[in-house]
Amino acid sequence: MKSFILTAILTALFAAVAMAQAPARQKRTVTDEEVMRVHRSTILIDTHNDVTSFTVDGADIGKSAPDRMTDIPRMKQGGMSAQFFAAYVAASYVKDNKSADRALQMIDTVLHDIVEKHPDEFLFVTSSAGIRKAHEQHKIAALIGIEGGHAIEDSLRLLRDFYDLGVRYMTLTHTNSNGWADSSGDPNKPNNGLSPFGKEVVHEMNRLGMMVDVAHVSDKTFWDALETSKAPIFSSHSSCRALADVPRNMTDQMIAAMAKKGGVIQINFSCGFLKKGSGAAGSTGGSTGAVPRATVADVVKHINHAVEIAGVDAVGLGSDFDGITCAPEGLDSVDKWPNLTRALLEEGYAAAEIRKIYGENTLRAMAAVEQTAKQMR
Ligand SMILES: [Zn+2]
Repeated sequence: MKSFILTAILTALFAAVAMAQAPARQKRTVTDEEVMRVHRSTILIDTHNDVTSFTVDGADIGKSAPDRMTDIPRMKQGGMSAQFFAAYVAASYVKDNKSADRALQMIDTVLHDIVEKHPDEFLFVTSSAGIRKAHEQHKIAALIGIEGGHAIEDSLRLLRDFYDLGVRYMTLTHTNSNGWADSSGDPNKPNNGLSPFGKEVVHEMNRLGMMVDVAHVSDKTFWDALETSKAPIFSSHSSCRALADVPRNMTDQMIAAMAKKGGVIQINFSCGFLKKGSGAAGSTGGSTGAVPRATVADVVKHINHAVEIAGVDAVGLGSDFDGITCAPEGLDSVDKWPNLTRALLEEGYAAAEIRKIYGENTLRAMAAVEQTAKQMR
């Protein structure tokens, strides 16, 4: 009898714990009015956009450009509050010793071509408070993240220079390993994760207040960065490996461990990262045929999964728009964000949860990085 009662109590307890971890969401229908009301109540931050690869060659972000995923008219239509623009440095710049040069060109295209030429739409900011300030002014906050740690050419001095120019995250690697960190795209893994100098880089990023971005890095680099960093780390554009088994996505263990330290996984919209094999050789509009093109529902699946294993405080958005060749049907350009809001509401997410996923989680992680830097200086 006693053991029966004990078993009953334990069963109830386990059920309660499971419920707390994964609140049962009630699917429901929503009105257009509710979608837009909730959407407008968010501070919508996208932590990765590659339109800079076009503006650096002269494209005007102010002009409607249906052949791309990003332009100002559609950013406004999509209700965006903040955009981290990628200062992407391709691996090809390494061989000519032009990595830092390219990073400077990419930073300039954000500061000059995007912000300076469109002062009514953008406000250049470098902090979580700056994002809130831009939001209050009804402008889109523009921020810079370097993609590819080879940009610093193995020099902490250059890292500090980039910080001074306003760079607020750095993706430790791109598809190439560099002198101090291994990439998920490199089968050789020459550093066995982060080298001793790589750990110094992370330490200096902590001291400066630059977010450590683990998108693109190898699993060992991730664990080394997580262990080394005194501040939360984040992935500016990665999805869940449990749902799409590609090295660029994060395992459940990685997502949960990063969340425990206050970090955020910003879900990437690339079809192939949402659904393995989807859109592999396709363009924005198409699919290869074998695996159908990803949809908004696939993005919701990844958000659900990350929320289930790491909590609603650990998930954000990093579209990778204009850096990917296939984006999900219904969510394939910067004006389509309200479709995601609708899908999340229909899935049963509360408005407060959507506000966290859209921006508050990123703002919290940024503020923690800023706080750590204050304490280290
Ligand atoms: Zn990338």
